[in-house]
Amino acid sequence: MRVTLSLLLMTLALLSSADARRAEPPPPTDEQIAVQLRDEALGGEDLAWDWVSELTTRFGPRPAGSDNEHRAAEWAAARLKALGFANVHVETFPITAWVRGVESGEIVAPVLQPLVVAALGESPPTPPAGLEGEVVIFPTLADLKQAPPGSLTGRIAFVAARMVRTQDGAGYGAAVEARSDGPAEAARRGALAFVLRSVGTDSNRLPHTGTTVYVDGRVAVPAFALSSPDADQIERLAALGEKVRIRLYSTASYVKDAHSQNVVADVPGRVHPDEVVLLGAHLDSWDQGTGAIDDGTGTAIITAAAKLILDLPQRVPRRTVRVVLYGSEEVAQPLAPGFAFGGHAYMDGHKAELARHVLAGESDLGTDRVYSLALPAAVEKSAFATTVARVLEPIGVLPAREAARHAGTDVDPMVEAGVPAFALLQDGSQYFDIHHTANDTLDKVDREQLDQNVAAWAALVWLAADSEVDFRTPATAH
Ligand SMILES: [Zn+2]
Repeated sequence: MRVTLSLLLMTLALLSSADARRAEPPPPTDEQIAVQLRDEALGGEDLAWDWVSELTTRFGPRPAGSDNEHRAAEWAAARLKALGFANVHVETFPITAWVRGVESGEIVAPVLQPLVVAALGESPPTPPAGLEGEVVIFPTLADLKQAPPGSLTGRIAFVAARMVRTQDGAGYGAAVEARSDGPAEAARRGALAFVLRSVGTDSNRLPHTGTTVYVDGRVAVPAFALSSPDADQIERLAALGEKVRIRLYSTASYVKDAHSQNVVADVPGRVHPDEVVLLGAHLDSWDQGTGAIDDGTGTAIITAAAKLILDLPQRVPRRTVRVVLYGSEEVAQPLAPGFAFGGHAYMDGHKAELARHVLAGESDLGTDRVYSLALPAAVEKSAFATTVARVLEPIGVLPAREAARHAGTDVDPMVEAGVPAFALLQDGSQYFDIHHTANDTLDKVDREQLDQNVAAWAALVWLAADSEVDFRTPATAH
């Protein structure tokens, strides 16, 4: 009897605890939290917009090494602390800064006509009285490279190639070599100066600046971008059989003992704080606009995505989510390893931790919608990739056909050192209408597109950071 009663009591106790378990909902899955983050961002979060609006309004253009860039970094660090990020600090590194001066260009023969030009970043000034020479037109950089030594003595080389508009921005990669390598190729053949049709897809009378590459520690000749209509004008004059002479003027200068800085902020992981998923973008910008789409929006997107993860009511992720706002990206010299810029400076300062950087990506193609996700080859066919695809497809993001090999100028040094990369590919078909021009201003930012970017970043980064997935090593075949 007593036994029966105690059995009955035990049974009742078990039943009631089962009831309690049934009443308590199971913890949400990673996928459910990713969907929640995605939808929260799409619902109109304010941080990304407020961030890019305040950054571009308070500091305007932020050339590497300038006072504006330093102040923007201090502001960003203070904002990140106020938002609740941990380990917020500024890492300073030395650079030689380039300062645009006064510049102008004109056709002087056959008749006087003004040109709209912009000196290319890192290029030296002209003599104080300017320089003048006959223009030699090359359809492409390859044609310039065919010119014999000495054939350009006393003349000005002009590469007239047009950038091709594409969704993935591949046209930029093809066209930008003329800007990077053209000045040195022209100088080798005796040219006084180098000009090119702006690397851009618009036909506005606005030149697109951009950096050019150091060879033997310098840019050899003054170098300029022409607005596309001005490039057309010179080509048409030449086609009429005229010898075209132009005059160029620039007071560009260098500041040898300048510095730039990276801003670092963490959402510390709850299980593996030493394992880092890194989100990069750059705080510096060109000097003519206010660096809204290049790359104010990138810094806004990654900060807002990380903040949504930081504020999750359920749990912070297993791994650390790190935001790095890089300095001195625009004047980066990728072909000169060790040359100081934000990406190399971060590598140098974090060498010992790189083996524990599990994944890295960068947002630096403006604010148009993300349409595709490239993951590291090791996880392309994994359950992780399937889950991510389920979360991102409803917002228009499909798996890329190829694995990510690069992520962006700032994170590529670490990617080349073995850190796996992802790329949330944005529609780049309009980006190069504005990129590196005075037209890169806040009014070009579309809030809905900005939120779609934040949604994609927040969902993907959460899934990667709360996982134990090894993005380096291919999973064994099953
Ligand atoms: Zn950029």
